[in-house]
Amino acid sequence: MKHFDVIVVGGGHAGCEAAAASARSGAKTALITLSKRDLGVMSCNPAIGGLGKGHLVREIDALDGIMGRAADAAGIQFRLLNRRKGPAVQGPRAQADRKLYQKAISELLQNQENLTILSAEVYDLIVQNNHIQGVKLADGQEVFSRSVVLTTGTFLRGKIFIGDIVYPGGRMGDKPSIALAQRIESLGLAMGRLKTGTPPRLDGATINWEILDEQPGDEEPVLFSYLNKAPAVQQISCGITHTNTKTHDIIRLNLEKSAMYGGFIEGVGPRYCPSIEDKIVRFSDKDSHQVFLEPEGLDTNTVYPNGISTSLPESVQFEYVRSMVGLENVKILQPGYAIEYDFIDPRSLNDTLGLKALDGLFLAGQINGTTGYEEAAAQGMVAGLNASFKSREMEPIRFSRADSYIGVMVDDLIHRGITEPYRMFTSRAEFRLSLRADNADQRLTRLAVDRGFCSNDRRILFERKQDAIAAATGSMMNATFTPKQIQACGIQINQDGNRRSVFDLLSLQNVAQGDIEKLWPEISTINSEIVDQISIDALYSHYIERQTKDQAAIKKDEMHIIPTDFDYQNMSGLSNELKLKLKRALPGNLAQAARVDGMTPAALMLILAKIKQGVRSRAS
Ligand code: FAD
Repeated sequence: MKHFDVIVVGGGHAGCEAAAASARSGAKTALITLSKRDLGVMSCNPAIGGLGKGHLVREIDALDGIMGRAADAAGIQFRLLNRRKGPAVQGPRAQADRKLYQKAISELLQNQENLTILSAEVYDLIVQNNHIQGVKLADGQEVFSRSVVLTTGTFLRGKIFIGDIVYPGGRMGDKPSIALAQRIESLGLAMGRLKTGTPPRLDGATINWEILDEQPGDEEPVLFSYLNKAPAVQQISCGITHTNTKTHDIIRLNLEKSAMYGGFIEGVGPRYCPSIEDKIVRFSDKDSHQVFLEPEGLDTNTVYPNGISTSLPESVQFEYVRSMVGLENVKILQPGYAIEYDFIDPRSLNDTLGLKALDGLFLAGQINGTTGYEEAAAQGMVAGLNASFKSREMEPIRFSRADSYIGVMVDDLIHRGITEPYRMFTSRAEFRLSLRADNADQRLTRLAVDRGFCSNDRRILFERKQDAIAAATGSMMNATFTPKQIQACGIQINQDGNRRSVFDLLSLQNVAQGDIEKLWPEISTINSEIVDQISIDALYSHYIERQTKDQAAIKKDEMHIIPTDFDYQNMSGLSNELKLKLKRALPGNLAQAARVDGMTPAALMLILAKIKQGVRSRAS
């Protein structure tokens, strides 16, 4: 009989991060997945990061996770998106070599202490007295643990659609998980169906690259991990082509043959990652869409055409793909397809990503209604750590909207639920000026160190960087100059008689470091990365001062814990409608209660007063 502290089911992006985090934090962990080849598989596009998503990867890395390191090892083209906009909304992105990414993830997991990787199908959950005890495998074996994390992605009752052809599948080439889906349903959890799609894969040897526009990566690549400085492998360019009126006509004429438009799929799809059929219908005034031709690796001819995911029949895919410039003679290696699968309403979870209704069972990734590798991995981090702490009766770890995109996502999911596959955007974070991709380490690494799941190497690097930032910021604040001195160095400044520090000058837009150097030559002796970091901190310092008050208020409300048996029913002053919503949402603290739909400041004060009195529920 096998016993572990934590079992993680599924070796996708959520599962790998969950297993690594659980083991790193000291729990004896088993990762059980259908096949060992699953580790690090990218079901769709071979790319990591992007707007909002890149922030999540940086936060995962700041918590010593594995996604950023693997993306750096496998990155064949790095681009910092929104480079021309402010640093708060810039997102690192890398196109990855699929095989190298899988290799990097596998190696990181294989070298992880406390972690055992098993390949098997999890068939059933072992539950006793409403507490998870472990899992049962398809061959009848039982594996026991104190906590279980489910990360089964698109596999629960997954169905693949290519035109009117429908067959069961967890993704192309993999069978779905049916028994486990039925078992989850038997727990009485609210479930639904979602869908997503992927484009056909093309043979790069049959693309006419010569006539296509080229998109190179950045000249100075920005990596994901705070541990890395430069790409590990050769860098490549992508090609760019476009759909045209002929492409659109072919698609429009065949719409009823598409699985989505022919009415074969009920599930809701991602609005922000639409299929080419969706684009033609929703943006009917447009007669062209950009298509990026992204090589899937350094030693393969497979090309991923980004922007044309589809569930049209294979023959129609062939016709419309060949209507595009440069693709006139292209060969399709694998048709595009749509997949429909079960998800669990994330409002069944608390902020540790543990199920409210079943002690010790945690969920992370696409199973919670999200889409994307980064969203999955970030949830894996939260669920893996909490499963580990729970198994050893330690304090849970919670992420706040005020300190991370991870906190924003968890909060959105567990309170608002989802109506379509959830993906991260910078606009979801109200404190995005302080939650930047550049400062994820400053926001989160201390937490990883204090809670004991940060490697020594990272800790030393982090502490050195923090010390250097503190020392340089201090010197920059102490070095002050008169407006006249400043103007003499070519910096336009109000001649108001007030002395300004070097830090103040860095906070002004359009002040060149060269001009500051004339005024204060010491700046050239400080490591350029440290100067860059302080410059961004300075740029946002005025806004952040204002935000800090609101962040502090949220943090204060988060400290007021609401017990799960809190008696809303017998509270006077709350409307019946609000009582119902509160009983359904079961907010874990006052900040969460504030976000329950229909909450008023007066009702919040009543709840706070009751918390303070320590009033507990009488049976409701
Ligand atoms: P997955 O990566 O799906 O991993 C699930 C893992 O669970 C697998 O390793 C599987 O073997 C294992 N597993 C399942 N059942 C069992 C069981 N019973 N026992 C043991 N192991 C089990 N994302 C985007 O951001 N944009 C897109 O355009 C996009 N398109 C997609 C198109 C398709 C066709 C698919 C399949 C996915 C697409 N995705 C897209 C989603 C992206 O792949 C997922 O968001 C991401 O992989 C989710 O990670 P996960 O860890 O939750 O699940």
